[in-house]
Amino acid sequence: MVLNRWYYQIPVMQPRKRQDITRQNVETLFISKDFQDTLAHRLGGAVQIPAIAYDDMGLVGKDPRWEVFYQFSDYLTKTFPRIYEALRVETVSTHGLLYTWQGSAQDLKPLLFMAHSDVVPAGESTSLQWTYPPFSGHYDGEYIWGRGSEDDKSNLIAMLTAIESLLGCEFKPCRTLILSIGFDEEGGADRSYGARCLADTLLKRYGNDGIELIFDEGIAGIERRFGTDFALPATAEKGYVDVDVKLDVPGGHSSTPPDHTAIGFQAQIINLIEDHPFTSQLIRQNPTLTFFRQAAVLSKSMPQELRDAILGKKSSEKFLEYMDRDRERRAMVRTSTAITMAQSGDKVNSLPETATFVINHRIALHESAQAVKDYYIALLRPWAKKWHFNFDAFGVMERNREDSQTRSNDNNDCGDLTLTAQYELEPSPISDTEDPRFSWLAGVIKGVFGEDVVVAPELLTGVYIEPLH
Ligand SMILES: [Zn+2]
Repeated sequence: MVLNRWYYQIPVMQPRKRQDITRQNVETLFISKDFQDTLAHRLGGAVQIPAIAYDDMGLVGKDPRWEVFYQFSDYLTKTFPRIYEALRVETVSTHGLLYTWQGSAQDLKPLLFMAHSDVVPAGESTSLQWTYPPFSGHYDGEYIWGRGSEDDKSNLIAMLTAIESLLGCEFKPCRTLILSIGFDEEGGADRSYGARCLADTLLKRYGNDGIELIFDEGIAGIERRFGTDFALPATAEKGYVDVDVKLDVPGGHSSTPPDHTAIGFQAQIINLIEDHPFTSQLIRQNPTLTFFRQAAVLSKSMPQELRDAILGKKSSEKFLEYMDRDRERRAMVRTSTAITMAQSGDKVNSLPETATFVINHRIALHESAQAVKDYYIALLRPWAKKWHFNFDAFGVMERNREDSQTRSNDNNDCGDLTLTAQYELEPSPISDTEDPRFSWLAGVIKGVFGEDVVVAPELLTGVYIEPLH
């Protein structure tokens, strides 16, 4: 009999050699008010340093706005003295931080944990909307307020605190542990310049496939769904592409207009696109499917009808219907289409000669940037033919009008339709939750947060690419 892994929760994993640490840390230290306050103040202090990465930042060393990052690393040195004594700490491209905790077993590949120290700006215009100022790091006894309190100084301070606590117990790792801390995840002169240099350093040092497991920021914390606590490590991320659509038509005076202006044509095409969304599909490897299957088996309050739709025979169609009904869920199974910017016309009495708009996509796991392009070629080709528009689809030209049909002749329906793609990023590879190494993560999460917490994979839908300026 073949057993599907998702029916089973991974067993709790406890440290074998130093069980005293688990007792001391999990059962006493982590839940103590003193420890929680210390941790909150450490994070609050980190939030108070406005380590902002602006989009238009110049290079490190040239743009003085990077200087504050020195203050940030000084803060870490002061806050975690044991770490700076016991670990090797290097700087990479000035503000990138690389911590190496050398393990005793040379033959084991290291674990890599990543975070970033920078935050996005908190615009002047929003200053009145903050409950507490964005760089106050205010601790109200329960929450820490401000920029970076979640994204991503919380991860950084948590990781450093965990190591500091282990050093306090005189723990010595078998396996080498690396922390890689970038400083320009949110913006900067050259997107991910810091992260790229850190990656190059690690690749040179450990080689291809030289790291056992990599952890980075993703879905944070424990979430309650269907009456059950879930820890949801993201094991895949959707892709990204912007498609720019441009229409060129003859201009003229608004007193003698054709049937459709550039804006009218633009509206037709937008309508066509919104009426033909991408197809939803649930591929076997989609972590969302694994999450729902686990939830169907293990959660306390899932409606029976949904449980049947997930687990029953011939269930997939019903389940897909359920996923499609809500836009948050739909994003898990479909390439999203959002028309986010449009421009045309600048004078009330002149016919606009161009109209442009951008369609933003998060590419589903079963598709690719090329599939998105093919989709638009198939969708818009008949439209271009019908209206005698030359169709330049991602660099391939299809002529639909005679050269004699110039922009000034009577038939001024004709024009040019041009599609281009920007910021293409394919969906990420999918980490395999059947791999025994996933059970290390899941087992440890249960060891720390309790056996009742269900650990299931999830899909990240919100990859954000900041255009280079
Ligand atoms: Zn982040």
